[in-house]
Amino acid sequence: MTYTQPKLPYSNDALAPAISEMTVDYHYGKHEKAYIDNLNRLIQGTEYEDKELEEIICTSEGALFNNASQAWNHIFYFFSFSPYGGGEPDGELAEAIKEKFGSFERFKKDFVDAGVGIFGSGWIWLARDEKGDLFIVPKTNAGNPLTDGLTPILVFDVWEHAYYLDYQNRRADALNKLWDIVDWDIVGSRY
Ligand code: MN
Repeated sequence: MTYTQPKLPYSNDALAPAISEMTVDYHYGKHEKAYIDNLNRLIQGTEYEDKELEEIICTSEGALFNNASQAWNHIFYFFSFSPYGGGEPDGELAEAIKEKFGSFERFKKDFVDAGVGIFGSGWIWLARDEKGDLFIVPKTNAGNPLTDGLTPILVFDVWEHAYYLDYQNRRADALNKLWDIVDWDIVGSRY
C-alpha cells in the first residue's frame, strides 16, 4: 500500500489568523508530506506494507512508529478545522464534556494548560474510552492515544513547527486561537 496525502478541504489561507497560510504551507505541505513519504519508504517490502495505518501505529516502534503516527496525527489535526469553525460542541459530546469537566470553558482551560505543560514536542489529545468517558491525554513526540486503547476525539499539535512562524514562543496563545477554527460537527462525529 502506498499512502497519499489527502488534499485539505479548505485553501491554505482559509484558517488565518488562527493559523497563517505560511504555516499551513510548511506544516501540512512539507512536514506532513515528509512523514508520509518516510512512512511509505519504511513499510516497503516489510510485514507492515499491507497493514492499516492504525495497526502500524499500535504494533511498531522507533522510526516507523514515529513516521506512521505523525502521518496519522497531522491528518487528524488538519481535518478538525474549518474557516467556519469555532463556537461550542453540541449533542452527546457537549454533554460528556460538561459531565467530565464541569463546563466547556473549564475543559478548554484544562486542555490548553495540559498542552502548555508538555515539555518539548508533542500533542494534547481529547480521547474517549469504550464507555464514553473523556480524558485529556498529553503525549510527547509522535504519541497517540490509540496505543492506550483510547479513541481520539480532538488534538492540538504543540510541536514548535505548528506555531513558531505565527506565535514564536507563545504556545498558549497559539493553542487558544485554535478554538476559533475547530469544526465541532467533525469533532463531535468522532465521539
Ligand atoms: Mn506538526
